[in-house]
Amino acid sequence: MNIILFGPPGAGKGTQAALITKRHGWPQLSTGDMLRAAVAAKTKIGKKAKKIMDKGDLVPDDVVVGIISERIEEPDCAGGFILDGFPRTIPQAEALDALLEDKSLKLDCVLEIKVDDAVLIGRIENRIEESSETRSDDNVETFKNRLEVYYQQTAPLLPYYEEQGKLRTVDGMLSIEEVNEQVEEILSEFD
Ligand code: AMP
Repeated sequence: MNIILFGPPGAGKGTQAALITKRHGWPQLSTGDMLRAAVAAKTKIGKKAKKIMDKGDLVPDDVVVGIISERIEEPDCAGGFILDGFPRTIPQAEALDALLEDKSLKLDCVLEIKVDDAVLIGRIENRIEESSETRSDDNVETFKNRLEVYYQQTAPLLPYYEEQGKLRTVDGMLSIEEVNEQVEEILSEFD
């Protein structure tokens, strides 16, 4: 299956993606992880992206679309993949639709993990306290901007996918295991 894990920063997309990968084997394609790798490797894209990521803004659409377009061609994606943190804007979603069509692939389902803002901010504060290798965009100010960017630029994708009949929502306020159960219940409908 080809799915999107959708939700605000701190909703638990990465955690749920890892659980889905463990069970089904579909790789997790996180544009955030790929960009952080580019930053660490000091590539041209990485150098440009770092400043934007540190502020909590979005890197240009063509950059992430290019990265994803290449990545889903890799052999490990042939049996399905999980998009985590992509698409984040309407132009990215439109580009994804176009490139999937081009590759004769289809998107099966968009799983939205819904979590209240106050809980998200509490979670990020914990993550900062507990983390040994802090991400350079893990501070409360940047996080608040990431949340604002989510509502302004990413949340409009919810009606976009609802219209396509692909949107499914799970309650991200529950425990990791309970969220995973809801996710698996939805995925089992596609068997
Ligand atoms: P994430 O790990 O998904 O929270 O992403 C961390 C940061 O990488 C974001 O705050 C953005 O600056 C950048 N980023 C990740 N994915 C995208 C995307 N699809 N479009 C634009 N910027 C992105």
